[in-house]
Amino acid sequence: METSTKDRLYSDLIEACTKTGCPLCRVSLAFVRSYLDNTMYEHINDPDVRADLRDARGYCNTHAWMLTERHGVVLGMAIIQRDLLNAVLEAIDVAPLGRGVRQYTRNILQRLRPSAECPACVHRRTMEDIAIQTLLKYLNDARLATALDETSGLCLPHFSRALELAQDSEQLERLLSFQRRVLERLCDELSELIRKHNYCFQDEEIGQEGDSWLRALGITSAERKVR
Ligand SMILES: [Zn+2]
Ligand SMILES: [Zn+2]
Repeated sequence: METSTKDRLYSDLIEACTKTGCPLCRVSLAFVRSYLDNTMYEHINDPDVRADLRDARGYCNTHAWMLTERHGVVLGMAIIQRDLLNAVLEAIDVAPLGRGVRQYTRNILQRLRPSAECPACVHRRTMEDIAIQTLLKYLNDARLATALDETSGLCLPHFSRALELAQDSEQLERLLSFQRRVLERLCDELSELIRKHNYCFQDEEIGQEGDSWLRALGITSAERKVR
């Protein structure tokens, strides 16, 4: 199962490299969107799914609002939100114990606190690890290496995780040399963009370095909506 997922991921990674931004962010977003769709369309009446969501007090901010962009989610969302509001009402339905207002508040806060993480975040992390392992496994593959060199690199969170998951010194060296190469190139583009903002050179047309500041933002802070 894991092997076939990894092989499918190889193609997903190659395709993600043709798009703007960290390829692992692109793959991660696709995982999460498909997970959310699957939950909404197939598993909304699954008692375990509903219990996990109640324990988490709903999806995190990113994933909750991402759901509102999906099609046909009104019924599923209404069912989930009613569940969550009932859980909140139950959590705050507690009588004062006569031990002061602080203790009373602490008691309510404790009952309100999530006892689990956002299920979409849990899924995202698991799938990201598989994607990162695939990327590391195929770093010596000429097709993936060429595709990766066309990108602006891995975002810092994914690069850091890839460093943690690298299996041996060969994977580590390949990862470092790829990331160094593309980041240096991105730095050069930023320098060119900065130079062209100098009034002495303002007549020069801005080229592909025009969006380098946004690509760099995607590297330092990861792509939008990924975490
Ligand atoms: Zn990323
Ligand atoms: Zn989440």
